[in-house]
Amino acid sequence: MKKIQMVDLQSQYYKIKNDVDNAVLNVMDSAAFINGPEVKSFQSELEAYLDVKHVIPCGNGTDALQIALMALDLQEGDEIITTDFTFAATVEVIHLLKLKSVLVDADYDTFTISVDAIKKAITSRTKAIIPVHLFGQTSDMEAILKIAEEHNLYVIEDNAQAIGAEYTFESGEVKKSGTMSTVGTTSFFPSKNLGCYGDGGAVFTNNDDLAYKIRGIVNHGMYERYYHDEVGVNSRLDSVQAAILRKKLPHLDTYNEARRKAADYYDEAFAGNANILTPKRAENSSHVFHQYTLRILNGKRNELQKFLTEKDIPAMIYYPVALRKQKAYFQESNDADFVNTDKLLDQVISLPMHTELDEEQLKFITDAVLEFMR
Ligand SMILES: *Cc1c(COP(=O)(O)O)cnc(C)c1O
Repeated sequence: MKKIQMVDLQSQYYKIKNDVDNAVLNVMDSAAFINGPEVKSFQSELEAYLDVKHVIPCGNGTDALQIALMALDLQEGDEIITTDFTFAATVEVIHLLKLKSVLVDADYDTFTISVDAIKKAITSRTKAIIPVHLFGQTSDMEAILKIAEEHNLYVIEDNAQAIGAEYTFESGEVKKSGTMSTVGTTSFFPSKNLGCYGDGGAVFTNNDDLAYKIRGIVNHGMYERYYHDEVGVNSRLDSVQAAILRKKLPHLDTYNEARRKAADYYDEAFAGNANILTPKRAENSSHVFHQYTLRILNGKRNELQKFLTEKDIPAMIYYPVALRKQKAYFQESNDADFVNTDKLLDQVISLPMHTELDEEQLKFITDAVLEFMR
């Protein structure tokens, strides 16, 4: 059996090696390393795939979030509501820009931000909501957009984990994750669903003025060469990474389908075990399974992880600590407001999930989990 990995990037690469290698060598040959034609082509190909007006590539997914916030009309101390149960980058950029993060509870079944908790957290200083499309499915966007409209708030979708997922509105309209709100962001970190071979990210928006502003911010606040209209950053997707992404984007739907198939296998194997809750698939969102995350109900999650490690099966705890209790972002809070997040911290375990899992590996993993959870 092939060694089981959390993410198997090498096997995926071997299948497209020729294509990717040639694309990279062509960039070397062209010497157009920064903002070359590969970046522009990738940008328009991703715009077409997402059906969004503007994609602005940048250096990584954290920069994308920071740049999105910088482009909005926000003042020091403005409140930004986001989820307590996410990767730290989401809240890090809020603090970096001297905005105030207001962390709220997650939904127990979908792991995404709780709509009720958002409602309770809104004050006169609230300016934006950042829903994170965690583990591969979108947040409850219909409800979130409605709240935002009522209170005149920006919505920034952190789509680092759900690129390719689709959300169906009550009207029947279908949109790609990351394109439903004021602005969306993503990451091309190698292990993400659309990953490059280094760092990369992008910002999406349908708003022309905002896109114009963002294109300046990513390039030192320059709209005309050597005229700096505002304080920006230097954050670019390099041409080599863009060339690689151009070879991978056409496979994204197939990759997400492979992840779903692995998830189906897991779901079926664990159905009927009273102590294992499989991930719920939201009604309005497709799931692209960035992670396959179980909830273990018998209190033995850590022992299960240890058992799996001994069998050479990697399994990860995403995420072990609530952001509100992290040293860097600590905020006074009432644990009674974070019942779901705190339960999830104790129960979640993510199993290997990538495009290259074969049936032998899936059987080995599920047999091991079930042996322990008998
Ligand atoms: C990966 C990730 C990011 C950050 O992306 P980088 O490219 O690593 O900077 C932000 N938010 C979420 C939810 C992520 O998973």
